[in-house]
Amino acid sequence: MTSKRIAVVTGAAKGIGRAIVERLISDDYFVIAADIDAVGGQELVAVFGENQLSFEAVDVTSESGINALFDKIDQKFGRLEVLVNNAGIIRDNMIWNMPAEDFDLVISVNLKGPWLLCKEAARLMKRQNSGRIINIASRAWLGNRGQTNYSASKAGVVGMGRALALELGKYNVYVNTIAPGLIDTTLTRNLEPDVLQKLIQAQPTRTMGKPEDVANAVAFLASPQTHFITGQTIYVDGGKSIGAGG
Ligand code: NAD
Repeated sequence: MTSKRIAVVTGAAKGIGRAIVERLISDDYFVIAADIDAVGGQELVAVFGENQLSFEAVDVTSESGINALFDKIDQKFGRLEVLVNNAGIIRDNMIWNMPAEDFDLVISVNLKGPWLLCKEAARLMKRQNSGRIINIASRAWLGNRGQTNYSASKAGVVGMGRALALELGKYNVYVNTIAPGLIDTTLTRNLEPDVLQKLIQAQPTRTMGKPEDVANAVAFLASPQTHFITGQTIYVDGGKSIGAGG
């Protein structure tokens, strides 16, 4: 049994999730890292050790898997200070070329998954009368060509977070959303080089963000020193969401 603050991070094995894990561990949290990537998960355990992290092979789309995860957390710790819903995927295509399966899959991983985790975390946090939920959406919720499925899923995450902040405010549970822009991870490195260059040049900063930039915003919203901020969407996007060119 640990006296550290406990945080669940989904999609923890790489990219932004991994940076969030590192940052929370450096802030003295015990992190429950959840991912479908069992190999990446074992690597996390090898790097950080069992005193700072445990890995759970979980698919966020599995209701029984999520319920089992939270039963385990309740039995082992009886509390949860922070939930970070970070796992997400893209399946880009113009709508006229997009198989309906790719719509269903993206909605299932990016929106239903976080909803399932929020539901279980809300029960636990309401009972303990405290907690922080941080959902990773995307600047793309504002709309991106080729991402009707992804934009819809992330718009759903923004709306869900606002509704949940209303439901949980009186239980001292704060719910906020982070909307990253162009961040340097495998998700963006898989883009065609010329497409990536155009995206970078369209940034007011002319740079990509780093996973650590998102992790810093998570650490701020998770911190016990941060009060009275709930139902908000914070952009970590180099100003792209301002939308006036530049
Ligand atoms: P990534 O592909 O590098 O990592 C995603 C992680 O999620 C992987 O470890 C993967 O195994 C895991 N995952 C995928 N499906 C899962 C499932 N069903 N259950 C559990 N885990 C699953 O992605 P990233 O770039 O680090 O993105 C992290 C989050 O940030 C996502 O929600 C993404 O939509 C969002 N985001 C990323 C960017 C960007 O530019 N990289 C921009 C805006 C938003």
